[in-house]
Amino acid sequence: MSHSSNPFLNLNYEPAIESLADYHDVVTAAEYPMHRLRWRNDDILPTLGLDSSQVSDDDFIEAFGHFRAVRPFLALRYHGYQFGEYNPQLGDGRGFVYGQVSGVDGEFYDFGTKGSGRTPYSRTADGRLTLKGGVREIIASEALYRMGVKTSRCLSLVETGEDLWRGDEPSPTRSAVMVRFSRSHIRFGTFERLRWIGRADLTRKLLDHVLQVYYPHIWGKENQDDIFYLELVERVATLCAQWMAAGFCHAVLNTDNMSITGESFDYGPFAFIPTYDPRFTAAYFDHAGRYSYANQPAACYWNLEKLQDPLSMVMDKDNMQSSLLKFKDFYRDAYCEIMLKRLGFSSLSEPETEDLIGATLELLSAAQAIGYNQFFVKLRQSFEPNWREDASKIFGSHDWELNDEQIILLEKWRVVYHQLLIRLPIAELENIAQQLQQSNPTIIFLRPKIEELWEKITVDDDWQPLYDAIAQLKT
Ligand code: AMP
Ligand code: MG
Repeated sequence: MSHSSNPFLNLNYEPAIESLADYHDVVTAAEYPMHRLRWRNDDILPTLGLDSSQVSDDDFIEAFGHFRAVRPFLALRYHGYQFGEYNPQLGDGRGFVYGQVSGVDGEFYDFGTKGSGRTPYSRTADGRLTLKGGVREIIASEALYRMGVKTSRCLSLVETGEDLWRGDEPSPTRSAVMVRFSRSHIRFGTFERLRWIGRADLTRKLLDHVLQVYYPHIWGKENQDDIFYLELVERVATLCAQWMAAGFCHAVLNTDNMSITGESFDYGPFAFIPTYDPRFTAAYFDHAGRYSYANQPAACYWNLEKLQDPLSMVMDKDNMQSSLLKFKDFYRDAYCEIMLKRLGFSSLSEPETEDLIGATLELLSAAQAIGYNQFFVKLRQSFEPNWREDASKIFGSHDWELNDEQIILLEKWRVVYHQLLIRLPIAELENIAQQLQQSNPTIIFLRPKIEELWEKITVDDDWQPLYDAIAQLKT
């Protein structure tokens, strides 16, 4: 083991997936002409038991740019359904698991790379990540994290000085390598591959691993497998509700992008919806709108259903199917809870909840001049305890351009909101202001905003606007 003073090289990496032996290939990292640290996520360091003052930029670069190894690098094997078609040619084509560690919170984490070079799964591709792709993943994960979504985060992004050619970016474009901090890189597709190669034994082994490490409260129970699948359904439904409430469109909900822990990860052509338009589709190549904003719950359901095929090699399919039927309720409960919070409330009766969310979506759907997330920012910024006195004070000074029909819907929203406020004791109005602040960050990363930040980087090499924008999430 290393005697380096680099805290990253002295973490207690555990040979978790490596010791299972059957789910990876050992690979090497690419060597790069340049190493410039563009992003270090100091927020994550305490979870690793580290203090940011102990960790230098050079430590980041040595571990996550030069890839000084502590353990073997593991490119994971997996397959997946991509836009409905089974693809047995997947696997980590530009990444590997650098290491796995227990956090001080008792959870087990992966350091997974993206853009670290070719592997046996690269096919004809270069194994690289564009700098812009890295920046976009930082933005997606930090914004989602701030909005309470269970997500992976970027620990580091090192610019690597190569010219890359991509169809979806002006090329040549700059290169980078990222390290992603996540609960796990075991995907639905990791299990799908085992079904493809007909290995019930390896499925059992992997499932036991997943239960022990990521579902320890279930491990060893009599019906552990059934309980696991039910809990996975709940976790995925909850995650999907978190995306929907955040106005987030993941864009590529293939089964190789679905984590077995129910965590959100792998951000490619994602987008935050500009307005409440259920048909909004983020990926330009998703012609049929398979992964449109409104189709996300159905896509998650489909993925969970497909996962029954490999799992049924070792557990009962009928039980899984009846668990899956609970998806809708899990989803609804989670969605309502999060939406209420975004609207300032922590709990309301069921009819009240339905009225308020219904009136909100009706308004936002009809009045596209009010952006989706902009509405919540405006609510946070405009809310005053005196809204309770008189419904006309609610959004009294908005600057939305609305037609007659939309004005009627806004009136309706005001009445619903006002009714809820007058039922609250005055002392609780402060909680509403606080809840609005907690649930609604003031910065929204719509595409033009992301492009504006990227322009600064690519034209002036000015990274400060990006850092400032991410810092604004904390307010
Ligand atoms: P993604 O769309 O990022 O989820 O990737 C889908 C599959 O393509 C995975 O097997 C990736 O490893 C692989 N892949 C994507 N981009 C590259 C690349 N530039 N080089 C090698 N493999 C890649
Ligand atoms: Mg992927």
